Amino acid sequence: MTEPSDSGLGKLSTHAFDIFQRFPAPLALVAADGPATVNRQFGLQLDETCLETEAVRAVAGNPGGPGARLRLAGKDNREIDMHVSAVRVENLALLVFDDTPGPAADERMAELQQRITELERSSSTDHLTGAWNRAHLDRIIETELSRSLRFRQPLSLVLLDIDHFKLINDHHGHQAGDAVLRELVAAIRAGIRTADLLFRWGGEEFVVLATSTSYRKAGILAESLRTKIAQHPFPAIGQLTVSLGVAEHNGNETAAAWFTRLDDALYAAKRGGRNRVFIAEGGNSASWDRDSGLSALHLTWREDYECGHPLIDAEHRELFELANVLLEAVVSAKDARPVLDRLIEHVRQHFSDEEAILAEHDYPRLEAHRAAHAGLLAKAAELRARLANDDAGLGAVVEFLAGDVVARHLFTADRDFFPLLAGRAAGAVAGNGCPVDKN
Ligand code: GH3
Ligand code: MG
Ligand code: MG
Repeated sequence: MTEPSDSGLGKLSTHAFDIFQRFPAPLALVAADGPATVNRQFGLQLDETCLETEAVRAVAGNPGGPGARLRLAGKDNREIDMHVSAVRVENLALLVFDDTPGPAADERMAELQQRITELERSSSTDHLTGAWNRAHLDRIIETELSRSLRFRQPLSLVLLDIDHFKLINDHHGHQAGDAVLRELVAAIRAGIRTADLLFRWGGEEFVVLATSTSYRKAGILAESLRTKIAQHPFPAIGQLTVSLGVAEHNGNETAAAWFTRLDDALYAAKRGGRNRVFIAEGGNSASWDRDSGLSALHLTWREDYECGHPLIDAEHRELFELANVLLEAVVSAKDARPVLDRLIEHVRQHFSDEEAILAEHDYPRLEAHRAAHAGLLAKAAELRARLANDDAGLGAVVEFLAGDVVARHLFTADRDFFPLLAGRAAGAVAGNGCPVDKN
């Protein structure tokens, strides 16, 4: 049996590992190319060789899918029939083996998925304040960094520490101190964008991860937090002040080195007399501003994006415009949710128009295209839910628009029917009766 520390489960808490072990059905956690970890029930009923069969691998490769009823290698050279399904846990697949067929198995899967989601959420959250915890920051920082580099969007950190918090505890008691921490989190949340993420870094220290934000802009954000907090009434104690350090990633440092610069900046603010901001100057934005300005964040329409059908082209152009409004909103700290709602509504309408037109033209791969549309809408809805929960950074929005909608869908999937429509549209202009809008 593999220990949690040297398996994919090492990422989950000991508590999650305990649930995995004691779950009353066989479970196996498999990585795409790594070793599998199995639980106690698995060891009692099944043989690990069954994980290597093509049928089981196919189920593992489609987490969230319906799964399959399979004949598996059991203990003592016996075979057993079980329903096998998979759910995703981080970047791994959790296989669930169930000998109760039909809805009972589905219910158990749904229950397990829900417990995993709850566990992931609770193991990522600080229980006193509700902010994300440090473990969650450790988990997402590399992803945010690689997005920042890929999209050439600066990434900054603000570290905030309450001044003389020890005295607050000493004078008003620990409970009042706890209430102050909760109130402070509410005040910070009110002062940052939906795209920014707030973490409790430790005791009375908090980190804001600000996406698409240079050290200069992060400095402005830190200064506005400082003044807002200094004026904020804290019912348990009256007033307090905070000191803040700011550092933007500079492209060639490890996350650890970046956090050291951040910590040094905070220390400089404390040493400078507290109730102030110290900015560690420099970062990627300094060089990116010179060569690309803001253009990296703007989708630019080009003529060769046109397929020749006036309605589809007009809708694609509008999609670009809405995407730009959304990017603008996220970058400039406006509420992005109404814009994303408009975009989703537009995409929905556009997909249904496009499907109708393709059906009229007997497009042979219509069903696959329909499925791609449905997948994109589901992804948009998921992003919308994440924005509502404040857990989608700009990176996620950009990746969805630029990566999924534009690059993968518009310029890969849609390209497939461009020749079809371009040919018919040209014919329509020549008057062969093809139903296209000529206005
Ligand atoms: P400085 O201005 O230099 O930051 O001074 P400070 O007193 O804020 O800093 P110090 O690091 O000396 O003290 C931090 C205090 O925070 C000590 C610790 O008891 C308190 N603390 C840490 N976590 C909690 C918590 O969850 N609740 C409460 N009430 N206090 C906490
Ligand atoms: Mg401290
Ligand atoms: Mg302090």
